Amino acid sequence: MFIEEVKPGVLRVSASAEWPRPYVGVCGSMHGDEPCGALAIQRIAGELESRTLAPAAGTIFLVHANPRATSLGRRHTAEGDDLNRLWDFGFTETLRLEAWGYEHHRVLELRKVLGDLDIFLDIHSAKTATPPFGVSNGEANIDDVAKRIGISYLVQSWYGLADKVIIGFLKLAGIPALSVECGAHGDPLIVEKAHDIAMSFLCATGAIEDCSRADAAAVQTVHVVETIAKPSEEFHFGSPWKGFERLEPGTLVGRDRVTEIRVSRPCYAVLPNHDVEVGDDVIYLAVDC
Ligand SMILES: [Zn+2]
Repeated sequence: MFIEEVKPGVLRVSASAEWPRPYVGVCGSMHGDEPCGALAIQRIAGELESRTLAPAAGTIFLVHANPRATSLGRRHTAEGDDLNRLWDFGFTETLRLEAWGYEHHRVLELRKVLGDLDIFLDIHSAKTATPPFGVSNGEANIDDVAKRIGISYLVQSWYGLADKVIIGFLKLAGIPALSVECGAHGDPLIVEKAHDIAMSFLCATGAIEDCSRADAAAVQTVHVVETIAKPSEEFHFGSPWKGFERLEPGTLVGRDRVTEIRVSRPCYAVLPNHDVEVGDDVIYLAVDC
């Protein structure tokens, strides 16, 4: 078994020193206030090093995406920006070099190694409790793999964000990729959940040997059709949405002093997050596929 650090925070592991394909990537802690992903991949690295786990054919890449923000316990560094909103690399044209923060340099450092993968999992956690769900980029076999990793919902078409997030960047290269929200940051079992999902992904992709985990389970697939930006500081939700509640026509999504947002057809509330800046996405609405 061969293991080496190819970039800071990026380990590759293989049974062969020739580092054969397929390249299977698992990434954690793109957001520094979501330590479960980094802790899950550190645990997997330890299990590989101690030979409790063995890589099968191919090469596994374990990526701690944002170590600096993780050490700060913040979504991103103070001078930097959200690492999962930089994958269109637009800042290289619009932001002078002196204004770049850690994440701007980091996204360029990770670009080549992630852009060369054959399949990819990106692990997140959320501010509020949510059933575990995945967001698919729809490439190749990713939806079949997603059904074997223990999530309850699979979201298609991440409206509006798609060109800025890592799975959107990989979609442009035709690389199957999935982001997963494992549950709430504060859930005492969150690292266990993240580890289970990562391990099931490695099993489902054939990246590790002797797997008994990867059974297909019932997963509800939904399609995001609406992105709602926070209209004002006064905006609040109509109910304390946790995510994936089914909203019937007429349901109040949220309101401020002058605006009310109600749904006009049955749909689901996806990734509600009240604690965002005005103008940022506060909730998504999805329908059955
Ligand atoms: Zn995240």
